[in-house]
Amino acid sequence: TFQGMSKERMLEIRKLNCNPMTMKVTYYKKPVFIHHGFMQWLWDVDGSRYLDMFAGVATVSVGHCHPKVTKTAQEQLQRLWHTTAIYVYPQIQEYAEKLISHLPEPLKVVYLTNSGSEANDLALLMARLHTGNFDAITLRGSYHGGSPLAMGLTSNTLYKYPVPSSMGCYNTMCPDVFRGLWGGSHCRDSPVQTIRECTCSADQCHAKECYIQQLEEVFSTTIPNRIAAFFTEPIQGLGGTVQYPKNFLKDAYKLVREKGGVCIADEVQTGFGRTGNHFWGFQTHDVVPDIVTMAKGIANGFPMGAVVTSEEIARSFAKGLHFNTFGGNPLACSIGSAVLDTIKEERIQENCAVVGTHLLKELAKLRDKYEIVGDVRGKGLHIGVEMVTDKASRDPLPPEAMAQIMEDTKDMGVLIGKGGLYGQTFRIQPPMCITKEDADFSVAVFDQALHNYTERR
Ligand code: PMP
Repeated sequence: TFQGMSKERMLEIRKLNCNPMTMKVTYYKKPVFIHHGFMQWLWDVDGSRYLDMFAGVATVSVGHCHPKVTKTAQEQLQRLWHTTAIYVYPQIQEYAEKLISHLPEPLKVVYLTNSGSEANDLALLMARLHTGNFDAITLRGSYHGGSPLAMGLTSNTLYKYPVPSSMGCYNTMCPDVFRGLWGGSHCRDSPVQTIRECTCSADQCHAKECYIQQLEEVFSTTIPNRIAAFFTEPIQGLGGTVQYPKNFLKDAYKLVREKGGVCIADEVQTGFGRTGNHFWGFQTHDVVPDIVTMAKGIANGFPMGAVVTSEEIARSFAKGLHFNTFGGNPLACSIGSAVLDTIKEERIQENCAVVGTHLLKELAKLRDKYEIVGDVRGKGLHIGVEMVTDKASRDPLPPEAMAQIMEDTKDMGVLIGKGGLYGQTFRIQPPMCITKEDADFSVAVFDQALHNYTERR
């Protein structure tokens, strides 16, 4: 029991009274009943410890209950919980100034929200007002949120209700170098490459050209040759850590701008140093978006989101009045500030580069060892391991097999995530404070789980 409630009762309430749909995404046959956490660790109600390699879906950025962030939150809780932007309070200015110091020109106007869905809603509205166009394009398999507008942008049926949420939202093929039609193995930006041979040169990527042509065809077949917004995650998260061929985003941005649209980077999973070499995922593609949306890691798990754009777009958005009761409240802003300070002081971005690259290389050894590990990819601590029945067919490993490997990994003390259109990709996006030893431990556990599965088969 926990605080007088049995595990059975907790599950009963969860299944009946507490958004029962969430049980669909509950990973384990024997669920984990979380009690508390510290940095990269979680403890269950029975006192067992887990290495958290998924961070509540890439959300706990600097560590569970990070002492500095927690202390800042406690101090702010004693001073002031809430007031709104009707008044001037220091935390919101301090936060905006700190955040834009991490962004390139011309991104310097900040709007604060409480979630990623809200941030993407706002970004779409801004794009429509600024361009005078209506349509938006996203990549297949993308996730941009669950609110009515953001659900339209999201391209994964599991998260879409059969209501007309998608008016004006269209998809183009996702330039997935592993599973996509055209490959592109040495073109993606990762310390490890796919095992499929790529025949193009790095500058003249055949796969990239084909995917850009797909995007062009949306303009000539589906929408009236102009567009409001092109949304992309710099690396797809829920889609299964999908990376695009080199220069795909660069060419796509150019095309979208020619068609009158603005380019929006959804940094909800990729931002705040996670990709290691850069603070933002878009920087790994050498592009500057017109609008950037953020959430999740922004406040280490405290509800917060943000949209950052240029003064020019902000002027177009000033045609109406946008107000958000909780967005930019003093508590969220002080936590967000402490997170930015911690990333800097504890060299978190560098840790993502060093530990992430090490982890990727160790996982690539498992790809070479096991027939069912099809691909290892990602950057920094944004990693995907795509599972297949065999390397030749690349058929997705069935859900029961994925579940068995995950359950085993959990029973040995490591929590990982899952994604991809077929649920075929394990996702590793831990708190960004993990060490090389943690990385080695998680690889050893995963190795054992793969061994167990292969033996039992
Ligand atoms: N964008 C991306 C890339 C996401 O992964 C998510 C959440 N999984 C969202 C937007 C929506 O964020 P929220 O759940 O905070 O609304």
